[in-house]
Amino acid sequence: MTVDTARFATRAVHAARSRETAAARATPIYLTAGFEFDDFDHAADHFSTGTGFGYTRTGNPTVRAVERQLASLESGADAVLVASGQAAVSTALLSVVGAGDHIVSSTHIYEGTRGLFLDNLARLDIETTFVEDIADPDAWRAAIRPNTRALFAESLANARNDVLDVAAVSAIADEVAVPLIVDNTLATPSLLRPIEHGAAVVVHSASKFLAGHGSVLGGVIVDDGRFDAERAGHNAPHLVLPGRGGAPSVFSRHGGRARIAYARESVAPRFGASPSPLNAFLIGQGAETLSLRVERQSRNALEIARWLESQDAVESVDYAGLPSHPHHETAVRYLEGGFGSIFTFTLRGGLPAARRFVEDVRVFTHMTHIGDVRSLVLHPGTTSHAQRTDAERAVLGVGPGTLRLSIGIEDVTDLIADLSRVLESVRETVA
Ligand SMILES: *Cc1c(COP(=O)(O)O)cnc(C)c1O
Repeated sequence: MTVDTARFATRAVHAARSRETAAARATPIYLTAGFEFDDFDHAADHFSTGTGFGYTRTGNPTVRAVERQLASLESGADAVLVASGQAAVSTALLSVVGAGDHIVSSTHIYEGTRGLFLDNLARLDIETTFVEDIADPDAWRAAIRPNTRALFAESLANARNDVLDVAAVSAIADEVAVPLIVDNTLATPSLLRPIEHGAAVVVHSASKFLAGHGSVLGGVIVDDGRFDAERAGHNAPHLVLPGRGGAPSVFSRHGGRARIAYARESVAPRFGASPSPLNAFLIGQGAETLSLRVERQSRNALEIARWLESQDAVESVDYAGLPSHPHHETAVRYLEGGFGSIFTFTLRGGLPAARRFVEDVRVFTHMTHIGDVRSLVLHPGTTSHAQRTDAERAVLGVGPGTLRLSIGIEDVTDLIADLSRVLESVRETVA
């Protein structure tokens, strides 16, 4: 019996089967849970070596294509795509640290990452020390302990737009043979590639600029592929010692790519935050136009930051592209072709002014997201940073009148007109 002569219910699920290959120029979307094995040995071989594709949680051709694309854009050796930026951060860290280990992190990080350190990793007996002045190499050195297994920072931070001296902090990580993991979400590889400056691992919320259109979530871990067992093996026993049942070590099978291989084999698929192939496709398609969007967004942002700085109603603008920013020189040294498009500014009128602002915008959208083609605004003090104390918010540059902008690709004249109209009504409110 063939499928053609089978009964209705059988034909419904089997007749549509296709094994045709075609040279699609766009990345095909392999929206399938699993892949048929050629024969008995193929299945056994896949399970023993992990090569090829068996089940989408452990590998999928669409996902793989996007991993290669993003590894290339970040000048890395390999990448693992996951379901969200949070999954990227947790996968990267759990590929490096275990119970009893210690992390040194910049304090200027995404609130979700901070929660991961303080609530979740702490419960696994992984402690984190936070560095406030990330520009001070001694502050990083002083926080390092014998059990430190990773340094963590954002290349370009929200809210205060602190810029990481990637080479300096990479060198400190290298002194103690641990990886510097850089969250490069805000800078994007279009402006800065941390691996070129010595970082070992880069993570992204691909939900932001990489996908770019505010439609999907995703995350990626990119590795430099330069794990050195001789220098760093004592800090990574899980990579250099034999595996369960005496299996060959990850390092003996993958060499310099041991860390990312471990993330792919033993962390991402076990904790299970696998990306949908459809979302992977949208991230890959988004990344194709990354440089065009970031160029326009950065240009718009600089123009808007300058304009805001000249307004009476505005107390301060924290944008790394402005000469008034304390990290402007570092930004000039590291960022190529723009200063990004996410920054905060503070209204003189405090909370009432901020409330009026977010309720009056028309071209801007009031929502919690960044890196979208559309311009967005959020009041961090009562949303993302609401759980912080006043003293902590002050360190982070978040006051009652502070607003975060994520600038899109619209015509900048329309954006400034929107802001101008809103500032006029803010003046009336607080006058
Ligand atoms: C949004 C964001 C994350 C978390 O990413 P999700 O995709 O929302 O899980 C991590 N780091 C930074 C800097 C972010 O902006």
